[in-house]
Formats: sequence, C-alpha cells, structure tokens
Amino acid sequence: MIDPVIICVAITGSLPQKSDNPAVPITVTEQIESTQEAFEVGATIAHCHVREDDGAPTADPDRFAALQAGIERHCPGMIIQLSTGGRSGAGRDRGGMLPLRPDMASLSVGSNNFPTRVYENPPDLVDWLAAEMAIHNVTPEIECFDLSHIYQAAAMYADGRLPRVPYCQFVMGVKNAMPADRHAFEAMLKTKTHLLGDAPWCAAGIGRHQATLNEWAIAAGGHARTGLEDNVRLDRTTLAPSNAALVARTAEIAARYARPVATINQARAILGLRDSAVAAAVAAGSEVV
Ligand SMILES: [Zn+2]
Repeated sequence: MIDPVIICVAITGSLPQKSDNPAVPITVTEQIESTQEAFEVGATIAHCHVREDDGAPTADPDRFAALQAGIERHCPGMIIQLSTGGRSGAGRDRGGMLPLRPDMASLSVGSNNFPTRVYENPPDLVDWLAAEMAIHNVTPEIECFDLSHIYQAAAMYADGRLPRVPYCQFVMGVKNAMPADRHAFEAMLKTKTHLLGDAPWCAAGIGRHQATLNEWAIAAGGHARTGLEDNVRLDRTTLAPSNAALVARTAEIAARYARPVATINQARAILGLRDSAVAAAVAAGSEVV
C-alpha cells in the first residue's frame, strides 16, 4: 500500500535567531533560499512566519506576500502555510495576511501555557480567524497543544465554523504544555480517530523531541513536521546546518518505516487542497514565470 508521508518544514518561526543557529533564515531572501533547499529534498509544506530585518517577529502582510511570491516562483506547487500564531502579532493582526489566500494557515483553537507566558486564543478571535480562512478559501491546520484542542476542532467542524474536516497537528514538547510523552501521544491520536475518523493528521516535536515525534507519527500513519522553527540541532552537540538537513532526517525516518515521501500532487490530494495553478502549469509542461 502506498502511504506517503507529507513533510512540513517550519523554516523560521518567531523565536530562533542567528545567535541560536546561523542557518535560521530571517530575511525573505534567506527564507526563500532555505525553503527551496528543503523543497528539493522532499518538503511539500512550507510553514512560514516572517521577521523584521532585526529578527523581531511580525505579522506584516507585505512581508508574507513577498515570501509567498518567492516560494511560488522557486518551489512550484509547494503548499504554502502561513502562521497566524500569537507571537508575531496581537488580535486580528494575526490574520491580516489571510487575504493573500495561501493554501493553508495555522489555526490555534484554544489557549495554553508556553514556556514564559500564556498563549492566548480567546474564542471570539478563534472564530474570526476561522471565518476569515473560510472566506478566503484557506485550509486551516489545527495546532493542538492540548487534548481539548482536538475536541474544540471537532466541535467547530460539527457546527460549520470549520467547513472541512480538520487537519490536526499534535504539538508536543512545549514547556508548560503537552509533553512529548508516549501515553499522551496515544491519547491524542485515539481522540482524533474517535472524533474525526481517519482524517489525515500530523505531529510536531519541539527541541530534542523533534525526531521522536517524527518517528511516532510516521510509524502510526501520520504526517511529519520538522524545521528550524521547532529545533535548531541535529543532536545535543551539533547544530542543524539547514532546514534541508532536518527534512532529510525526516525522510530517512520515513524510509525506515517503508513510507515514501509525498510528492506535491500526493500531498495536495491527501489534504484535499485546491490545485495549485503553478503545479498545474508544471504538470502540463508549460513554463512558469
Ligand atoms: Zn509556527
């Protein structure tokens, strides 16, 4: 049975800086180059944040637009997922880029603690972000930092706030939130299956838990996220030289479990995404400019 793994690369995030790892792409130009390298070794989703020139997180729609255009140009057909996460903006600024109509956007549906603060996702903001995504035909990825977030996603699907079956990502290993604990992972997966059946899902592990969550998700039939946003190291003593190196590691784990890495077309089909005009043009053999 062909059961491809979608590899998502979270290229930048809002926290890591060059001082943590010089390979973290900060400028839009660096981000496009880093994404292209990751794309060439098998990443099919680019999860994107943008930064100011000094490295500070921002939700500036113009920066998102420049990054989106660059990825479309250099990584034809790659699935672009923009972050509406709370570190880069406040309130509705977090969704100011949704009119750019990326393929996907991240959506948190509940609050929880982060290492040094509360990650606030009040119900009215969650509903507004979900409504904006529906208006602009953006597919959400539900960031599940807690078991309750899976229940909330299912409730939003049941009452129509989420028009399509949610694609849930279990995020584990965030200090003060869900630990990278096998029992908790199995509880999250069982809950997803209980509420959403065989809907595709994915998982991300933070810091040293990245490869562990890749392995658990791949072994259990899910999809995998990697990248410098979540983890800047290959191991305790070695910095990851690039996003591509982390993608290659995830691809190796997939190979160990006899799961091929998803192509663009497979990833788009699994996620039920609209066809990329760029991907369609490539498939038809025409030049994309
Ligand atoms: Zn992110």
